[in-house]
Amino acid sequence: MRTEKNDFKMQNTEKNKLKKIWSECLAILKDIIPEDEFRIWFSDLVAVKYEDDFLYLSVPSNYYYEYIEAHYIDELIRTIRRVISPSAKLRYMTKVTESNMMTMSSVNHPIVENYPQNAPVILNNPDMKELPNPFIIPGIKPIKVDSQLKDNYNFDNFVEGSCNKFARSAGYAVAQNPGKTAFNPFLIYSSVGLGKTHLAHAIGIETKRLHPEKTVLYISADQFLRQYVKSVQEHTTNDFLQFYQMMIDVLIIDDIQFLEGKPGSQEVFFQIFNWLHSSGKQIIITSDKAPVDMSGFEERVLSRLKWGLNAELQMPDVQTRINIIKKKIEDDGAACMPDEVIEYLAYSVNTSIRELEGAFVSVIAHATLSKCDITIDLAREIVDKFVKSNTREITIEYIQKMVCNYFNISMEQMLSRSRKGDIVAARHISMYLSRKLTKNSLVAIGEKCGKKDHATVLHACKSVETSCQTNKNYRRSVEDIEKKIIS
Ligand code: ADP
Ligand code: MG
Repeated sequence: MRTEKNDFKMQNTEKNKLKKIWSECLAILKDIIPEDEFRIWFSDLVAVKYEDDFLYLSVPSNYYYEYIEAHYIDELIRTIRRVISPSAKLRYMTKVTESNMMTMSSVNHPIVENYPQNAPVILNNPDMKELPNPFIIPGIKPIKVDSQLKDNYNFDNFVEGSCNKFARSAGYAVAQNPGKTAFNPFLIYSSVGLGKTHLAHAIGIETKRLHPEKTVLYISADQFLRQYVKSVQEHTTNDFLQFYQMMIDVLIIDDIQFLEGKPGSQEVFFQIFNWLHSSGKQIIITSDKAPVDMSGFEERVLSRLKWGLNAELQMPDVQTRINIIKKKIEDDGAACMPDEVIEYLAYSVNTSIRELEGAFVSVIAHATLSKCDITIDLAREIVDKFVKSNTREITIEYIQKMVCNYFNISMEQMLSRSRKGDIVAARHISMYLSRKLTKNSLVAIGEKCGKKDHATVLHACKSVETSCQTNKNYRRSVEDIEKKIIS
């Protein structure tokens, strides 16, 4: 007989089962995702229910959902399919208000689709039961190639700054005229987390927008390598080659350094490259270093990589970092972050955009989960916890900003010629702390503090030292500001 008690018991058993399943998934994910990243992105996820093949995960904010979709979806889907069922799918829920949950579907499917194409002769071989390439979506004929492009990595949300201006505009030119510019191959390089993958997708998406008839394929070199190895094991390397040579108009290979020291896969890459290049097809490559610094590659492969245009992405300056955070807030829609917190994050996280993004999202998530305000103190706590803080750099600009905040004056006022008491004090203390806390020369400090010469900077430093000795309150103010800067 069905009773309330029984219903309750059943619900509880279901809940416990779900909890157990989810901790199993987390245990697997913990093994494959770097520890810090796992802590930021997975420790706050909760499995809410499993219904009609959908696992519902509760995420702290929309941003979490977007980030997970962009970075970990393959691992996540693979894991839930392994633990729950091969047909398991994913949905996310965010708390909009206490009683109100918003559900988003996983968009782990190609949004930027390629048109179906007629298969090359060999692929129409009647003896072949299954089409040999993993990018061919089964059951669809004629053949359609999954572009693997993620539409949330586009040009609109790729913030421009002097760090990426050249690469961004060259990428844009490539998308206008794929295969027809001198930028072929177009190679983007930088250290991790500076936007290579984002820009590569953006070029692919823009190409599809302007030339929908072109078949674009994004593939990580790691995936390319795995496909190649599989083709060797299954004696289908010819099909593998044919697929790339016959079907693709724009080939994007991400993180080519994965092919370092792998002569077999370099050989097929070389053949594919030559074929596509000579047929006027576009090749876009990303790498963690410039071709001149690459090792573990055959000379002929390296020389191909140097053929077209190599463009570097650098760490954005502070203003671009602020713009990136503001853009994320604008796109996320939900977060309301005080300017001083945005500035604090932008000044403190100078290692990579990925870390900046991680710190930003953690601040929002912590404030949401603990129902507290987004403050500088919270941001400081998170930056100290998650960002490799020993690489935090104190810049003259950051010192100036903190001093201006303390005196409640604007940067323009401090850099002006005003002789007003507070403004002069702020100017002097900025120069004094820049000398004490940074490795900049007096000339460099003077240049950034309103184009003063080195004698003026020296005079300012001496005057702060004297005032500290004679005026207790003044000394306390200087110490307070210094503490704020270095904490
Ligand atoms: P990489 O491939 O160089 O390791 P990614 O392309 O994965 O770096 O970028 C890391 C994160 O930083 C991504 O979430 C990306 O969207 C973001 N990002 C990078 N550059 C920019 C930019 N110019 N504007 C906005 N977001 C950016
Ligand atoms: Mg990348």
